[in-house]
Amino acid sequence: MIEITLLGTGSPLPDPHRAGPATLVRAGGKTFLVDAGRGVVMRAAAAGSGADQLTAVLLTHLHSDHLTDLGDLVTTRWITTFTPSPLLVVGPPGTRVVADGVLQSLSADIGYRTAHHVDLDGPPPLHVREVGPGVVWDDGDVIIRAGATDHRPVEPTLAFRIEYAGASVVIAGDTVPCEPLDLLCAGADALVITALRRDLLEPIPLPRLQDILDYHSSVEDAATTAARAGVSALVLTHYVPALVPGTEDEWRAIAAQHFSGRVELGDDLHRIEIG
Ligand SMILES: [Zn+2]
Ligand SMILES: [Zn+2]
Repeated sequence: MIEITLLGTGSPLPDPHRAGPATLVRAGGKTFLVDAGRGVVMRAAAAGSGADQLTAVLLTHLHSDHLTDLGDLVTTRWITTFTPSPLLVVGPPGTRVVADGVLQSLSADIGYRTAHHVDLDGPPPLHVREVGPGVVWDDGDVIIRAGATDHRPVEPTLAFRIEYAGASVVIAGDTVPCEPLDLLCAGADALVITALRRDLLEPIPLPRLQDILDYHSSVEDAATTAARAGVSALVLTHYVPALVPGTEDEWRAIAAQHFSGRVELGDDLHRIEIG
């Protein structure tokens, strides 16, 4: 069984009820965090996972809304573990520069804490692995494959397919439909993907809002991707505009025009089990 928890279902637009993009995947006793948006440490705590319990953090891309609380994760992991416990961060090329920048931004804090706590004898241990498409994790139990997505002009961007005990979930992040994503999703039990409502956004005459339409999947796009790939469950997240409680059925109805499987969406901490 794989357990998927939508830690943050928001977007860059601040929302008092939705944290930034982040999804927690538990499989085989391991805990993988995909993206680390606004409020991720609080939401992970609410889901019962401390920063100290994460097996790895996987970044789909380096847009700020997907990694803005990486610094909180790094610090919280560091000060709540009592034996060296490096945080593994897996992401596309460029991730190392981001991680170095996070550590740099924390340099004063690291100085204060290492001077004050004798058992903290160095900066937060961080292991960064920059990856491209292919197998990025294989412990004989859980296998994670990365695949390219299309979020241009943001490049490179990745989706992750996590497999355990015959179950599989793809966390796609921000992308428009593309062949590598279809291949990565083929036959998966679930696809977790960013979705925006084209019908609600198109009438708003704000150029900066219109810009986002061409590099994200609409609900229709997400549903057709799921249908083409033969996915069992479509899980929508990163709602733009924010999903208004009570309108879930509108989103489901749009998806259902293109996809006959199960459609999941909801608030932060929405949990799905597969396999
Ligand atoms: Zn993005
Ligand atoms: Zn995003």
